[in-house]
Amino acid sequence: MPPVAASAPVSESSGLTDRHGRAITDLRVAITDRCNYKCVYCRTGNDGAQYAELPVEEYLRMVRVLVSLGIEKIRITGGEPLLRRGVVDMVAGVARLQPTMPAVSGRLRQPLDIALTTNGHLLAELARPLKDAGLNRVTVSMDAVDPAKFARITRVPGSFRQVLAGVRAAQAAGLEPVKVNCVLLRGFNEDQIIEFAKFSRDEGVIVRFIEFMPLEEDRSWTPDSVVRLEEIIERLNRFQPVVPLPPNTQSETARRYTFADGRGEIGIIAPVSHPFCGHCSRIRLTSDGKLRTCLFSQSDHDLYGLMRRGADDAALAAYIRRVVDHKEARHHIGEPGFLKPSRSMVHIGG
Ligand code: SAM
Repeated sequence: MPPVAASAPVSESSGLTDRHGRAITDLRVAITDRCNYKCVYCRTGNDGAQYAELPVEEYLRMVRVLVSLGIEKIRITGGEPLLRRGVVDMVAGVARLQPTMPAVSGRLRQPLDIALTTNGHLLAELARPLKDAGLNRVTVSMDAVDPAKFARITRVPGSFRQVLAGVRAAQAAGLEPVKVNCVLLRGFNEDQIIEFAKFSRDEGVIVRFIEFMPLEEDRSWTPDSVVRLEEIIERLNRFQPVVPLPPNTQSETARRYTFADGRGEIGIIAPVSHPFCGHCSRIRLTSDGKLRTCLFSQSDHDLYGLMRRGADDAALAAYIRRVVDHKEARHHIGEPGFLKPSRSMVHIGG
C-alpha cells in the first residue's frame, strides 16, 4: 500500500510545542493494558481487572493526526504490546504514515522512527514479522540476568530463556541496536548491575538502568527503594572504570557510558535523582485513548472520547495543541506535597 500522507488539518504550520518552549516530537502509544508478567514493582498481581483496548484503526487515526502535527518518533508499548492481536498491523499502519511537518528537531525531515517496548516473552516469533512491517528498533525490559531472580521479579517461572531468545531474534532480524531496560529496585536486583555490564558486552546490547519511580500499583515506592545514578556508577566502576559517551540527542533521557576498551554500552536513566523534564519531548496515548502529557499527570485528556463524538481531524488537532500547551513543567518526585499520579504505569504504558 502506498504511504498515507498525514493531512495537515489545522492552519498552524508549526509543530507541537508547549508553553515552556519544549518541542513535542515523541509519542508513546499503549495498545493494551494487559500484561503476561506481574512484576513485583509494577502490578499487584491481583486478577480480575477491567482492561481497556481500542481497535487498531482507532489508534492509527489518532496517531495520524499527531504525526500531522510534528510527531517524529513513535514507541508502541503497553501493558505488553506483543499480547495484542493486531500489533503487526499497528506497526504496518504507523509505517505507512509520513511526516508532513518540517522537522522541529533541527534534523532533516526523515521517515518516522518506530520503536517498540516489550518484556520479550513473545519476541522470538514476532521479531521478524515486526521488522518486515516497518519496526526500526526494540527495547526489551529485563530486570535480572539470573534466571531465578528474573522469575522472582516477573512472577512467571521459566521465561528468562524465552526473553533471551527474543533479544537474539531481534538482533537477527535487524531491530538494532537492541536496548535492554532494567529497573533497579533496592533489595531485589542491585546485585545484577555488574552482571548486566557483562551481558551488554557479551550480547552486544545497550543495557539501560532505570531509577524506580512512584508509578507502581500497590504504592510501595519509598525514596530508599531507589538505586540512584551515583551508586550505579560506583558499582560499575568496581567491575571496570566507566567512560562517559556524548548524548545522541538533546532530549535523550539516558546518560551514556562504555568501558575503557569500548566494549559494551550502558545507559542510566535517572528521573528521580537527575530529572530531565526541561528537555522532555514526550507525550503518551493510553490504551483507552487518552492523552497524557507527563507520567506524573493528575489527569488525562480524552482524545478518543472527542473522536467518538464525531470530531473531525481539524478538531482533534486543535484539541491536541491545547492539551500539549498545558504540559506540566516537571514532576515533583521527592518534594514535600508530591502527589502520586492519577494512574499507575500499568495503565499509562511505559
Ligand atoms: N510490557 C512492556 C515492557 O515490559 O517493556 C511495556 C510496558 S512496561 C510498563 C514499560 C517499562 O516501564 C518497563 O521497562 C518497566 O520495567 C518500566 N516500569 C514499570 N514500572 C516502573 C516504575 N515504577 N519505575 C520505573 N520504570 C517502571
